[in-house]
Parts: sequence; structure tokens; C-alpha cells
Amino acid sequence: MRILVTGGAGFIGSHLIDRLMEANHEVLCLDNFFTGRKHNVLKWFNHPHFEIIRHDVTEPIRLEVDQIYHLACPASPVHYQYNPVKTIKTNVLGTLYMLGLAKRIKARFLLASTSEVYGDPEVHPQTEAYRGNVNPIGIRSCYDEGKRVAETLAFDYHRQNHVDIRVARIFNTYGPRMLEQDGRVVSNFIVQALKGIPLTVYGSGQQTRSFCYVSDLVDGLIRLMNGNCLGPVNLGNPDEYTVLQLAQTIQTMVNPDAPIAYKPLPADDPQQRQPDITLAHTELDWQPTILLEEGLQRTIDDFRSRLSVL
Ligand code: NAD
Ligand code: UDP
Repeated sequence: MRILVTGGAGFIGSHLIDRLMEANHEVLCLDNFFTGRKHNVLKWFNHPHFEIIRHDVTEPIRLEVDQIYHLACPASPVHYQYNPVKTIKTNVLGTLYMLGLAKRIKARFLLASTSEVYGDPEVHPQTEAYRGNVNPIGIRSCYDEGKRVAETLAFDYHRQNHVDIRVARIFNTYGPRMLEQDGRVVSNFIVQALKGIPLTVYGSGQQTRSFCYVSDLVDGLIRLMNGNCLGPVNLGNPDEYTVLQLAQTIQTMVNPDAPIAYKPLPADDPQQRQPDITLAHTELDWQPTILLEEGLQRTIDDFRSRLSVL
């Protein structure tokens, strides 16, 4: 198949492209390189089945493909809050144009949505039926409300124009190729521990997250794209940890001498987050396989080689 991956030079997109290329598909990687890096897809540059397109999804584009994985959007709060209006445009206009493209060429379209659509959830763990507790005017709204509109667009294009959609609600994902300056908790703690500087725990560290290793997530995305379930489907690892537990685990694995420094909790930071993955299990026969310590070790090894620290 010919497959378009928007945001293909980013963290998840580049791992997805590796899997699609290894399965002998023709892959078009579309990216504006805001948080993506050519280096992430460098190994495919001279491959005849691979093409890279520098393009911003807030502008329309014409291409011919069979499937579209729509991932283009910064995912880390630091990056999506850098230019919030641009983040909204990316989520709304970007998704609109990509759905318009899918409609015209009759391609199947998968939206990379997020657990952030649940906001600061009052239901725990979160099932797909939960409608969320989202602040429409807060500093995370450009991202979480943007993704909620993106989901709305996907379902309206499906109902109105019969676009063949799939919607994944992705929970916190980590792994090799995360940016050093990404600002997300796993990359921050690993980089800080490797550098021997304090691990910055925001708030009391009692807020929880559930961390999915990237290869598991990519496997879920591919199953969703090629199955019959439209979604939305939660894709994440149900093993839940407090942020402080994560800090202590990384401390133990990398540098027991690295201290912990407590910093203020950012506004609207969700208190708890854990996916209910019953739907993914029954519809896609999917569940994560990589335990936290195993995934962390691979991520630590990657950062260690990129930062050239021992
Ligand atoms: P990332 O920032 O590494 O990747 C996003 C990619 O999109 C980058 O390559 C970036 O350059 C590109 N991009 C951003 N704006 C663009 C635009 N306007 N036009 C073209 N390209 C653009 O983030 P990621 O972690 O790989 O996330 C990929 C997708 O998965 C995002 O849609 C994100 O919302 C979603 N997601 C990620 C997580 C996670 O934990 N990583 C969780 C939930 C949802
Ligand atoms: N966090 C932290 N220290 C950091 C970065 C993040 O304590 O250096 C916390 C953050 O406040 C949040 C959790 O870790 O409670 C996950 O943050 P991240 O930005 O990785 O993802 P998200 O909040 O989008 O789930």
C-alpha cells in the first residue's frame, strides 16, 4: 500500500514508519520539522519506497495514497504551548485538510487523538464512553480542545461523507528518539539523571500517569488502522505510577545520587490517568507487552548514546 504519515519525522511517527517500511509498504513522510527531525527517518532516505515531504498541514495538499496516519501535532506541553494558536490551527485546519484529502482519494484515515480529551478525569480508569472534564480556556486547551474538535471532524466526515475513519486515544508514550528538550516527564527525568542534576518533580509527585512503550503503541495503531473498529479506542499501558514513583525508578536505574527537586505544579495538570483498554483488547486483540523497567532501559540506553554520557 501507499501510506501517508503526517508528523512522520516525529517520535511516534518515525517508529511507525520503521514498521511500515519493514512491512514493504510505500511510505510518504510529511512533516514541517517543528518537533520532528530528519535524523529520525534518515535510514530510509535512499530507499525507493520512501519519500519525505516538507509541508505544513495547516495548508492543503494533494497526494494519492491508500491510508493516512494523521499524527502531525506537537505532543509535549512545552511545544504545544509555545504557539497555542498554531497548535489549534494544526489540530483543526490540519485535520480538516487531511480528512478532505481522505474523502477525495477515498483513503482510510487514522487520527492520533489523545487521553487529554478526558482532561482532568473524574472517572478512573478512563473508558472511551467517558466524555471528559476539560477546561476550554486553560493553557492546555489548544491541545486537548483541539484534539476534541479533530475527533468531531473525523466523525462528521464519516457520517456526512462516508470517510473511512479510525480514532486512537493515545496515552503517555515513551521510548527512544524522544527529544532531549521535550519537556515530558520520562525524557526530563532520564536526561536529568544522566547529567547528575536534580530530577524535577512537579507538585507533590502524587499525580499518576500510565506509560506505554512506543513499539507497543505502534502495534496498536497498525491493528486499529487495519481492523474494523472505528473507535475511539484507548491505546495505552494500564500500569499506573505516581510521578514520584517514576522519578525513584529512574533514579535507581541511572543514578541513585541524583537528587529530587520539587517544582510548582503546572496549571490544569491532570491528577490521574489510566486507560481502560478492554475495547482495544476485545476489538484489536491488543495489549502492551513491554514492562516499564524494560522500556525505560531501552530509552536510557538511547539517551546515553545520544548525549555521550556514561
Ligand atoms: P512529536 O512532537 O515527536 O511529533 C509530532 C510531529 O508532527 C513532529 O515531527 C512535528 O514536526 C510534526 N508537526 C507538528 N506540527 C505540524 C504541522 N503543522 N505540519 C506538519 N507537521 C507538523 O510528538 P509524538 O509524541 O510523536 O506525537 C505524535 C502524535 O501522537 C501527535 O498527534 C500527538 O498529539 C499524539 N499523541 C502523542 C502522545 C505521546 O505520549 N507521545 C500521547 C497522546 C497523543
Ligand atoms: N512532570 C514532572 N516533571 C517534569 C515533567 C513533567 O513532574 O520534569 C509531571 C507533569 O506535571 C505531569 C506528568 O509529569 O503531571 C506528566 O507530564 P508530561 O508532560 O510528560 O505529560 P502529560 O502531562 O501531557 O501527561
